Amino acid sequence: MESLAKYREKRQFDQTPEPVGGENVPWKGIYVVQKHNASHLHYDFRIEIGGALASWAVPKGPSMNPKDKRLAMHVEDHPMEYANFTGVIPAGNYGAGTVEIWDCGHFQPLVDPGQGIASGVLDFVLDGERLHGGFALIKLQRGKGDNWLLFKKKDEFADPLWTMG
Ligand code: MN
Repeated sequence: MESLAKYREKRQFDQTPEPVGGENVPWKGIYVVQKHNASHLHYDFRIEIGGALASWAVPKGPSMNPKDKRLAMHVEDHPMEYANFTGVIPAGNYGAGTVEIWDCGHFQPLVDPGQGIASGVLDFVLDGERLHGGFALIKLQRGKGDNWLLFKKKDEFADPLWTMG
């Protein structure tokens, strides 16, 4: 898959336990949030788009409080197999540190996700263990880089008292 070229370029698969990734994965409609204790702790938010996991690094992690607008840095697509990855990326490798699954579940896009990536507006519904209901990713138009905001939509699942736990 073309979109995994950058992922593979960054990694040496004889030195990291991360998956290389396969081809032509059938649509499963999943998302995963991985807590990545690398040089800086962050949460990797990944949603299935076009047979890969479109990915954002979220320093503060997602929130169920609609008032929390989380900075989400768009990073390289990851292979579908990455949704199951937990473990230690050894020192000296890209992203060295521990990876654990913080949340996972079903991802339902409300717009065409490929168009959403291109236009910078993604609306979707999550049904996981920690995250539920409507969310949005909106690309920031100002500044350099590929920075977005991830936030909860107002619905019956919104929790103004929510903490990361
Ligand atoms: Mn990461």
